[in-house]
Amino acid sequence: METMQQPARQTIADWQCDILIAGSGAGGLSAAVTAAHHGLNVLVAERAATCGGATARSGGWAWTPGNAFAKADGVNEPRDDFRSYLKAVIGEQDYDHERIEMFLENVPHMVSFFEQKTPLKFTPGAKICDIYGHLPGAGSGHRSVAATLFYAKSLPKHLLDILPDQYKMTSFWGMGIMAGQDLGHFLNAMKKPQSFLHAAKRFSIHVWDKAVHKRNMQMVNGLALIAKLVQAADEKGVRIEVNTAIKELIEDENGRIVGTYLKTPQGLVRVSAAKGVILATGGYPVNVERRKNFPRSPSGEEHWTLAPPEADGAGLALAESAGGYLDDSGRSPAAWCPVSLVKFKDGSEGAFPHIADRAKPGIIGVLKNGKRFVNEANGYYDYVTGMLNAVPEGEKVESWLIGDKRAVRSYMFGYAKPRPIPLQIYTDYLRCITEADTLDQLAEKCGIDPVGLMNTVAEFNQMAKAGKDIDFGRGDTPFNRSGGDASTGFPNPSLAPLGKDPYYAVKVQVGSFGTFAGIAVDAWSRVLRSDGSVVAGLYAVGLDQKSVFGGNYPCGGTNIGPALTFGYAAARHIAGVTAYEDDGSSFPSADYQGSF
Ligand SMILES: Cc1cc2nc3c(=O)[nH]c(=O)nc-3n(C[C@H](O)[C@H](O)[C@H](O)COP(=O)(O)OP(=O)(O)OC[C@H]3O[C@@H](n4cnc5c(N)ncnc54)[C@H](O)[C@@H]3O)c2cc1C
Repeated sequence: METMQQPARQTIADWQCDILIAGSGAGGLSAAVTAAHHGLNVLVAERAATCGGATARSGGWAWTPGNAFAKADGVNEPRDDFRSYLKAVIGEQDYDHERIEMFLENVPHMVSFFEQKTPLKFTPGAKICDIYGHLPGAGSGHRSVAATLFYAKSLPKHLLDILPDQYKMTSFWGMGIMAGQDLGHFLNAMKKPQSFLHAAKRFSIHVWDKAVHKRNMQMVNGLALIAKLVQAADEKGVRIEVNTAIKELIEDENGRIVGTYLKTPQGLVRVSAAKGVILATGGYPVNVERRKNFPRSPSGEEHWTLAPPEADGAGLALAESAGGYLDDSGRSPAAWCPVSLVKFKDGSEGAFPHIADRAKPGIIGVLKNGKRFVNEANGYYDYVTGMLNAVPEGEKVESWLIGDKRAVRSYMFGYAKPRPIPLQIYTDYLRCITEADTLDQLAEKCGIDPVGLMNTVAEFNQMAKAGKDIDFGRGDTPFNRSGGDASTGFPNPSLAPLGKDPYYAVKVQVGSFGTFAGIAVDAWSRVLRSDGSVVAGLYAVGLDQKSVFGGNYPCGGTNIGPALTFGYAAARHIAGVTAYEDDGSSFPSADYQGSF
């Protein structure tokens, strides 16, 4: 880190701003838009060629309890319900009272601010349940929002140029599909005429866009969120520099952070940031050295993250250089996600996130011994935690999802898409799923104990027919059941027997959406030293800061909800604003049609 007394580096320019924000994901752009709205001169430095980081790859759902959409739908939950739920999930030891209060206070205003004062418009997740429905205060909907589908034809070229395509691993030929109604239509395209029409229309537009615009234009999920935040930032005068990495902090004689050096394509630039620097570089999930502290990951290589290559902990290293530190005291250091690997014919490899398939009836998860080990329909975090706990020490941490033909052709199964997409693409061409005529042959091919697997399936089938998973309680919570399928004819939407052959398997390994451990901060997201004092002028938001939920995953949207909220709150703190921007109304107004 440079101090004011040290000689200056050789630079090509000096730039001035009020706030320098490193990183253009949910955390960085939320802060940028909010600060610019309050009249500050904001510069966003983005190391990649396009904006959005992991956020642009993501499902884009943000946990936002108490948001105004809920109120518009007549759901007025007391804040104590959110506290009770979080306390039950997190536990006393990791419950960070001050930061959670800051989150709960700011989250409804954050949603209303973006909805009312920027082009970002949200779709409420009225039916998205909290994961642990058996715990006190758990919600059964109305606690999350995502950006609405956005057709990017109206975006000016200079903004389109800094937006990535829809993430390859979770899109279909580059077309993103949104959780909820949109996905429902795609899954039912062969069953319902209106779903077929919806899917056909979306896909035709996509093919047209690929031909004419050479890219995806129907932006959904995290990409829609980033596109709208970029548009909002542009409208409010934020300067965004891509291919520009933050390299070094500059502190004044009082130890206050007053600027940075940026590495631009033209050379080093010295930036004076009068009101401070916000680190929003997306945590450290690709940093192999630091991953050695992950459980069951002695070399750091036993882990596949879905985050982009830039998420290597640059922000954390800078915070450490200024006296900050990594707080990894929470329950787990990363936001686990079960992944399977797909090798493409061009030699590239991708990690596919098993977000939805585990919960579908007719699909179970087993270990090498052929036994189930977890409630597969709980959160992705729980599936990985289950693997980490159940696989004996010294063995590779892996499991297999097993499904019958009905399930595999009705829903997504790993990277394999349902009917009418030919399954041979995945079994024979990409070879990312394994097929066999019998369960023991399938076990043989995968290296699973055949007797163990056959016994497990026989027992599971009995429980599925009875509608009760006595081993792991799958299907007991609203979250489990909403992830299932009520149309199978079996009593519990989360459970169906594995029926007719052939059978399929996909190997699942330990991965993550990003890190939960992060820079220690206070409720305003100011970076802290280990003695509790504040590093003046330095903030950390998004995955750069330690997870507000103490390394737990209480609900979908656990990362983006806090990233947007703490970005918003940090910017307001820097701007010295106390009055909220929203008008306090319960928007959307009279013409609101209700949520899906
Ligand atoms: C497939 C997938 C699905 C997901 N779904 C969800 C979901 O639905 N809900 C949810 O809550 N979470 C989800 N997540 C996780 C979530 O997307 C991320 O945790 C969150 O978006 C991180 O936001 P961020 O702003 O901290 O970082 P990012 O969005 O990663 O942004 C950080 C940015 O900083 C840039 N950067 C890095 N180093 C530097 C540097 N030195 N200088 C300048 N810039 C730098 C990066 O290039 C990047 O653009 C998902 C993740 C994935 C991959």
